[in-house]
Amino acid sequence: MDYEGFIIRPPSEAYSLLLQISVGCSHNKCTFCGTYRQKRFKIKPLETIERDLKEAHTYKGVEKVFLCDGDALIIPQQKLEEIISMINKYLPHLKQISTYANAKSILRKSPEDLKKLNQMGLKMIYLGVETGNAELLKKIQKGVTYEQMVEAGRRVKDAGMILSVTILLGVGGIEKSIEHALDTAKILTDVDPDYVGALTLMLIPQTPLYEDYIVGRFALPDTFGYIRELYLIIANAVFTDCYFTSNHASNYLPVKAYLPRQKEKILKMINAVIEAKDATKIRPEYMRGL
Ligand code: SF4
Repeated sequence: MDYEGFIIRPPSEAYSLLLQISVGCSHNKCTFCGTYRQKRFKIKPLETIERDLKEAHTYKGVEKVFLCDGDALIIPQQKLEEIISMINKYLPHLKQISTYANAKSILRKSPEDLKKLNQMGLKMIYLGVETGNAELLKKIQKGVTYEQMVEAGRRVKDAGMILSVTILLGVGGIEKSIEHALDTAKILTDVDPDYVGALTLMLIPQTPLYEDYIVGRFALPDTFGYIRELYLIIANAVFTDCYFTSNHASNYLPVKAYLPRQKEKILKMINAVIEAKDATKIRPEYMRGL
């Protein structure tokens, strides 16, 4: 398989074939994100993708494909349809194709485009929302407003796709911790995704947010501050049917809950950890990672 640079995927795509159809992220401006800073965004040639698919055709048991890198939906509709047709040709028994997408690239697709992609097999989108606080969205240079983020999420759901949303504990620092948590609960309520994955901020050298931290313009919450944000988000968000996790390696307190069904139970558990400052439940710093 032709992989350029470091490849990442969501934890739930651990058994998926990783097919890199684009390199990097077309936005590449979020102040906390270092993932694709070294990569210049490009769409891979169809010949390279076809070569990978011919190789994948020889593998046994491929049921899911995850499209890399950070922003495959930015690919123009016609070309993306060509790529998905090619995937279906070489891997005709797939259960699901999924990808990361940012709100800007989702909004460049019409509702009809998204429905067509869903019918062709693109069943799941991972959308980085990070925060619902309008000021913070601007500050971290997410490139979209609260309203655009909600519209992007709803467009994915209306197309019949499964929507998994990522939020980022700590991205408001100490100063905006509470507003960040409450507004994130609000945006999650407005988007009403099928899955939420909470990550905890880890500062990456050479990113603008890291620089702000170094010069004292940005201060991180303490461990229980992040967990308090997690509590506030779960307590205030209203979901129809959502699987909420904070089991990513960056988190201090891993939780998994079906919401709203297990809301009271999970809040009780989180609150007990905060009240007791129970360090035995906390992932040690050396075990955290991205
Ligand atoms: S859109 Fe996603 S991948 Fe691109 S810079 Fe922002 S966080 Fe990173």
